[in-house]
Amino acid sequence: MKYCLNCDWSVSVSDGFTPQERSKEALEHHVETGHAVDSSETVVRPDVPSLAASTLVADLLESHDGS
Ligand SMILES: [Zn+2]
Repeated sequence: MKYCLNCDWSVSVSDGFTPQERSKEALEHHVETGHAVDSSETVVRPDVPSLAASTLVADLLESHDGS
């Protein structure tokens, strides 16, 4: 699949695009937004940044409960 490093944009085989179409979509996203698009052979998007963000939100909520 191809995915954006700056936002949640991605295209994968399950979206029904051919490899040529996915490359075209990725290029168009880059041209339109200036975002960096990366590609991976895996079906699942590497999701470390989102996981860290979820942990941060949980920490913030926890501190709100305490106040
Ligand atoms: Zn993007």
